Amino acid sequence: MKILVHICCAPDAVYFLKRLREDYPNAQIVGFFYDPNIHPYEEYRLRLLETERICKELNIELYEGEYDLENWLSAVRGYEDQPERGKRCEICFDYRLARSVEFAQQMGATHLTTTLLMSPKKEFNMLRESGRRVCEGKGLEFLALDYRKGGGTQEMFRLSKELEIYHQDYCGCIYGLFKQKKGEIQWDLVSFSGRRPGSKEELAFIKEIRLFAEQEIGLACREWEFSFLNWKLISGKIEVGNQTVPSFVRPYSCSIKGVLKADPLERVGNTIYYNKGGLKVILTEYMRDEPLEQMDVLCDPTFMVPMEYEELLMKNRVVATLQTEISPDKSIILLVGSLEANTIQYLPADTLQDGRGISLENVKELLRRDYEDILKGNRAYMFVGASTLGNPGLKYFEERTGRKATPLLCNQAS
Ligand code: SF4
Repeated sequence: MKILVHICCAPDAVYFLKRLREDYPNAQIVGFFYDPNIHPYEEYRLRLLETERICKELNIELYEGEYDLENWLSAVRGYEDQPERGKRCEICFDYRLARSVEFAQQMGATHLTTTLLMSPKKEFNMLRESGRRVCEGKGLEFLALDYRKGGGTQEMFRLSKELEIYHQDYCGCIYGLFKQKKGEIQWDLVSFSGRRPGSKEELAFIKEIRLFAEQEIGLACREWEFSFLNWKLISGKIEVGNQTVPSFVRPYSCSIKGVLKADPLERVGNTIYYNKGGLKVILTEYMRDEPLEQMDVLCDPTFMVPMEYEELLMKNRVVATLQTEISPDKSIILLVGSLEANTIQYLPADTLQDGRGISLENVKELLRRDYEDILKGNRAYMFVGASTLGNPGLKYFEERTGRKATPLLCNQAS
């Protein structure tokens, strides 16, 4: 008996796969992650990474299907406004399971099932019918297993928590996202360059480090989630005449209402003060963003501009626009090694506005290089989200665990 399991996400899969193995001890179980419905791609990546982690944990072979979002969108066209559990979901199940049938046939499987059956929000009967429909005449038997019963759902949540699995807060597609999050989705749809604090890119990076550390080289990992006041830059520009001056925006700068036209008042140290709106320009030696040492609540609209523009800025009127947002958010800390290690050093998991930050290759090298030391408890490494915004994660970690962590300088990482 060979069972192909269509996998939608790690939380739904973790208990399902465990039970499946218990109930079919002699079957060969193969996983197939196929989720072209997931939007945006960063969310897809996160779910895939976590699925890879639990499959490695459970020693289950996993394959990834195509991310053919456009075809999926065409399949559900005309049903965009349907509520969850409606016709769009039925098509979505058929679509994903029909492709799983093809893959099961390629793999020589005898049975097909799906972890969607585990999801408390899905219609069980609709899934069972979909499974039977797509398997009909294809030489495959669909296993409509109801592992939600008898405390299965609670066990699924318990296991997810224990394994610190990322738990999404919407079903997956863009239409569900609009409905389930009721308009608060602006940041779910934004793709950032780099890994901005609290973003999906930052979270995926941390999960990727965990996948490597835990599953590829066998180092213990632990996570903590923390809340912080996030600052997000929507857009910002400072101009002199028709010339846009290259700049970064200082984190926690507040927005400018409309367009601000201001004249320079004076220069104090490296800061130019303007006569309107609290506008400031900090002259920097290089065109680069800097991490905030301390978390701010809010500051005047402040641009960081290379020193070479000093004369231009001191002699002319500037026109500035700035749109930012401050809101509560969450990020995580990943500890690789033991909490009791002699030394704990930390690295930022996020990147600055100019895209600078550690790379996965550097992290892998570092962990391979210090593998023995980490294993013996001489040292541990910590990867901290949102660290460029005053490092709120570090403070949380130190308060929560009573341990101190020191920064690892970039040249020590490579
Ligand atoms: S809400 Fe979920 S099941 Fe329904 S169409 Fe969207 S992704 Fe598919």
